Amino acid sequence: MSEQYVETVIIGAGPVGLFQIFELGLLGITTHIIDSLSQPGGQCTELYPDKPIYDIPGLPVCGAQELIDRLLAQVKPFNATFHLGQEVTEVRPLSGGKFHVATSLGVRLITGAVVIAGGVGSFQPRRLNIPGAEQFEGKSIHYRVRSAADFMDQDLVICGGGDSALDWTVALCEKARSLTLVHRRAEFRAAPATVARMRDLVAAGKMRLLQGNAVAVRKDNERLVGLEVQTADGLTLQVPVDHVFAFFGLHPKLGPIAEWGMELEKKALKVDTEKFQTSVPGIFAVGDINTYPGKKKLILSGFHEAALAAFAIQHHLFPEKRQFLQYTTTSPIMQKRLGVSGEPAAAADSH
Ligand SMILES: Cc1cc2nc3c(=O)[nH]c(=O)nc-3n(C[C@H](O)[C@H](O)[C@H](O)COP(=O)(O)OP(=O)(O)OC[C@H]3O[C@@H](n4cnc5c(N)ncnc54)[C@H](O)[C@@H]3O)c2cc1C
Repeated sequence: MSEQYVETVIIGAGPVGLFQIFELGLLGITTHIIDSLSQPGGQCTELYPDKPIYDIPGLPVCGAQELIDRLLAQVKPFNATFHLGQEVTEVRPLSGGKFHVATSLGVRLITGAVVIAGGVGSFQPRRLNIPGAEQFEGKSIHYRVRSAADFMDQDLVICGGGDSALDWTVALCEKARSLTLVHRRAEFRAAPATVARMRDLVAAGKMRLLQGNAVAVRKDNERLVGLEVQTADGLTLQVPVDHVFAFFGLHPKLGPIAEWGMELEKKALKVDTEKFQTSVPGIFAVGDINTYPGKKKLILSGFHEAALAAFAIQHHLFPEKRQFLQYTTTSPIMQKRLGVSGEPAAAADSH
């Protein structure tokens, strides 16, 4: 794949990475943004979409997903390019002050500046931690479903008790040859209506529910053929299987960010509080991923950091350009970039 030059790459599409698009966009700087998750929103979307947030200035209460939806609407005029569902695996300085950025799906970018808005790290699925499982990962042990059609008329086992496990149980049940749901507890953490639907399917004899844990894989040559399940009432069952889905939730991993040569302190990137630049000039860090004296991991703090980082990035990319502060209220150039026509100042004054 050929390498494309882009002005700035943002790593992480959580609330702070999204607002970074906005702050750079106001200054006329274009962005590409990359996230390992398949949708933008970071912790807000992944960990607490329905919870209310009370400390966003000007919004007395705002749902976490609602905040992300609002940020996406706010950054729309700047046409950032989103590369989702792929981890940034490499950030390498090039001669001349540019950077090479590579993702797990083969995107290759050359950029003048990098902003790391990686939060607590890239979210990874919690894995099925049983001996021998590793060799089947991505083949017959899966942590996400890409296409339900691939699993028609197969013996399936789904492990987990949250929304993903229950949603896919209901969605795949009628398509599979057999489906067994394995969950360690009697209670589920999924939408009550989906749990009720699953219980109806069990009652109708269309699937099996086991309370217990998968403890071993059974293979025939190099093919996965069964899963050993230890049930809560002390039985050991052999369940025939073609594909296993483990939906145990996600956990963040600092991962490759720790390998790009920047100074770290307690798993966070050290930055200054003028530019929010890391120890590598041209690489900036905003939001939960950075640290400095007095740092507070709040969305509000990340928004402030993104504003100052944008000015520093502008200076880094265009050192000859004079910088001055403009207000969105009154700046014709900013309003042009935003695609709005501001009210003439005289008219505003007359109100
Ligand atoms: C339950 C809960 C409630 C909260 N309530 C509040 C609140 O009321 N008010 C408040 O201010 N804060 C709250 N927070 C904290 C707030 O959510 C975080 O401060 C905020 O999400 C940080 O935003 P961010 O954009 O820096 O990082 P994140 O939201 O963590 O997003 C980072 C993104 O970067 C991606 N990423 C990381 N590494 C890579 C890589 N190598 N390649 C590709 N992508 C990568 C991740 O996948 C992730 O999507 C709460 C947090 C939790 C868990």
